[in-house]
Amino acid sequence: MVHAPQRPPADAPPVRINLYSDTQTLPTAAMKEAMMRAELGDEQHGDDPTVHALCDRMAALMGKEAAVFMPSGTMCNVAATLTHCRPGDEIIAHETAHILTSEGGAHAALGGFQILPLTGARGMFSPDELRAHIRGKSRHTPTQRLVEVEQTANIGGGAVWPKATLDAIAAIAKEHGLATHMDGARLMNACVAAGVPAHDMAAGYDSVWLDFTKGLGAPLGAVLCGTREFIDDAWRWKQRLGGAMRQGGICAAACLYALDHHVARLAEDHANAKALARGLAQLPGVKVEAPDTNLVFFDPSGAGVGAAELVGRMRMQGVQLSMLGGRIRACTHLNVTAPMIEETLQILRHALQRA
Ligand SMILES: *Cc1c(COP(=O)(O)O)cnc(C)c1O
Repeated sequence: MVHAPQRPPADAPPVRINLYSDTQTLPTAAMKEAMMRAELGDEQHGDDPTVHALCDRMAALMGKEAAVFMPSGTMCNVAATLTHCRPGDEIIAHETAHILTSEGGAHAALGGFQILPLTGARGMFSPDELRAHIRGKSRHTPTQRLVEVEQTANIGGGAVWPKATLDAIAAIAKEHGLATHMDGARLMNACVAAGVPAHDMAAGYDSVWLDFTKGLGAPLGAVLCGTREFIDDAWRWKQRLGGAMRQGGICAAACLYALDHHVARLAEDHANAKALARGLAQLPGVKVEAPDTNLVFFDPSGAGVGAAELVGRMRMQGVQLSMLGGRIRACTHLNVTAPMIEETLQILRHALQRA
């Protein structure tokens, strides 16, 4: 098992259309200029004005008291569970949740927490499913401490949890004395798609964070929000995990730029994803899930070609796709245009004909 990411093979053609992930967006020239102009200080000592400006803005956006700037979304999730829970506690989440599938077992390794996996279509569980898994309290049962949701649900196909479902889940959690956490890696995609403000989406949740390195196009950074007391405790974990930064404002400036210029345009990514899904649905043998946001999952096996085989063929034509949960994932973002979607569909048509 090789743990370090592998460099691409030297003979692979350059990637012309990158649908691999919205994490692969590059900072625009205007974003880089905003970074160059940023006022900087020592973030770890509390005197980087640009980091403070970002945290104040994020707390207001999410309707929470306070916020902390983190190097990554994963660190937001890890610092949040470490702050909410104690060793031996149980976290309730969907079986496909990022905290369960994609964080290297961090919540067990660092916190000593177990995660109870709930089921449900498209990465979402229902209020009834949650209610059915609330344990009676006894010395035999693990202490249930936290309910986690992912908005949008990544492996669920970028699905948007309806606000009513989020509210019902939060109400059940409160009724049973459980804390609530929202992994909002792509929260702004959900807000733009549903036309619901972030503070409404997150209203029932004790902690919530947003990733700036997905569709928002910043080079790094995520912001975790909650009560002043929660953020104060999360800061201790940020320090312990090595996430306290120095002139972090250079990156916070990119995040502020993204809030001003890259939120409304997420609607373009959603339109491009829908166009891609419509085109895919017309290819014989290809099964495609209708996208809510910017992630399109499809399965070409009905056309006589395996998912991994097709991803390899597309890569040799300069189109990068990813595999996630046994299906192909195409992700639209800042660096993907409508003509690129048309071209991708043409190349796919040829690649499938060769099957
Ligand atoms: C990407 C992602 C994360 C982790 O964010 P990083 O910034 O890559 O650490 C967590 N949750 C979800 C749903 C994600 O898509």
